[in-house]
Amino acid sequence: MAIQIYNTYTGRKEEFKPIQPGKVGIYLCGPTVYDYFHIGNARPLLMFDIFRRYLSYRHYDVKYVVNVTDIDDKLIKKAQEEHVTVGEVARKFTDAYFEDIKKLRIEQPDVSPRATDHIPEMIDLIKRLIANGHAYELDGDVYFRVRSYPPYGRLSGKNIDDLQSGARVEVDERKEAPLDFALWKSAKPGEPHWDSPWGQGRPGWHIECSVMSMKYLGENFDIHAGGVDLIFPHHENEIAQSEGATHVKFVNYWLHNGFLNVEGEKMSKSLGNFFTAREIVAKYRPEVIRMFFLLKHYRSPINFSEERICEARQALERIVSTLDSINTLIGVGADIDRSESEFVRGLKQEFIEAMDDDFNTALAIAKLFELVKEANLIIAKETITENDKSILMEIRETFYEYNTFLSILPGEQKSDSMVNEGAYIDLLLEIRRELRIKQEWKLADQIRDRLNELNIEIKDSKDGTIWRRK
Ligand SMILES: [Zn+2]
Repeated sequence: MAIQIYNTYTGRKEEFKPIQPGKVGIYLCGPTVYDYFHIGNARPLLMFDIFRRYLSYRHYDVKYVVNVTDIDDKLIKKAQEEHVTVGEVARKFTDAYFEDIKKLRIEQPDVSPRATDHIPEMIDLIKRLIANGHAYELDGDVYFRVRSYPPYGRLSGKNIDDLQSGARVEVDERKEAPLDFALWKSAKPGEPHWDSPWGQGRPGWHIECSVMSMKYLGENFDIHAGGVDLIFPHHENEIAQSEGATHVKFVNYWLHNGFLNVEGEKMSKSLGNFFTAREIVAKYRPEVIRMFFLLKHYRSPINFSEERICEARQALERIVSTLDSINTLIGVGADIDRSESEFVRGLKQEFIEAMDDDFNTALAIAKLFELVKEANLIIAKETITENDKSILMEIRETFYEYNTFLSILPGEQKSDSMVNEGAYIDLLLEIRRELRIKQEWKLADQIRDRLNELNIEIKDSKDGTIWRRK
């Protein structure tokens, strides 16, 4: 069955159909680098990285873009408070962001564009919006004219009229309508600024994401992700700006992760329940934090508490101790007997079905625990047959295989070697393709046969060659 994902835009689960077969473009709204990112921000960074790695595991060619917002009101305020430049604030917390995602075993995105590296493109997009009547200038500021874009509100399910009448009286009364939002802000004294047709100023936050996503993924791309709190107004505004300028559909699937509470309450500095990811990762092992997030469906709200972390740790310990027992019983380097167990195959199938069903990691992990249970039943037996050993090895291999995207096992030598193995196979297939073009059939077939002996099955079709482990 094809992968199904819940699309916030349509409000239902849909079959995932990439724009280009076999390829996926994903954009996630990244951090505003004015401080260390908090545990709530860690959720989308961690979960969407897992989904992106899962899609690669499912043989999609994924391009994953996570921006860095390095110019914003919050950065300016921080710089003023600390008597440093905005650039210094940005550098410090951009470095911290990359360090922290690494600690959480989040892989580097394929592209991490900085907003300040894309100012000319932002100015161009704003010019286009002014030219086609979607934006207007007022004394050096530029605003998006929300009324000019009738679908506004589709993503968040809000109605423009309700929003207009409900909008509080704006401080800025020069605007045509209260909902109109800033695309360009004129510089106040001492603020960082860039030259533009409207004078010196800086971009608004929303335009940054429209520009950086379209630059790296195209005017229409597959998946845009972020926290549920970004649906309105940020993502709504991104759609209005992008589609207002290009007149093509901006994003095909909108994915949003649920809120994170701490001990049942909204996280806030004033309540004293505010934790940075840096603090959390200093306290708990990254695998435990990953398991904590995986145990909940990404769209559900999640409660960060000692109790839940303890559950995640216990769950992980059960897996690790079972794998240790398997290693003790049959040796780490033991080779796999190829007789495949129905039971393991069935559960692997169910694991994949759960992941394919809107990335239901909670259900997928439950399937892994059925494997743990089966392994422990075998381990407890008085006599262990060769067939039992073969099942245990298959179970172990399954954990190593899925760990390439879950990254929950301590010490990752095994998973790293598996990632490399895939890259080597791809390289061999590339050489084989060249050989076939040159009609060197004997050598090409030799590669196929030798891979086959190593239990790598390859299939040729008009769309190219695919491989799988037998
Ligand atoms: Zn964004």
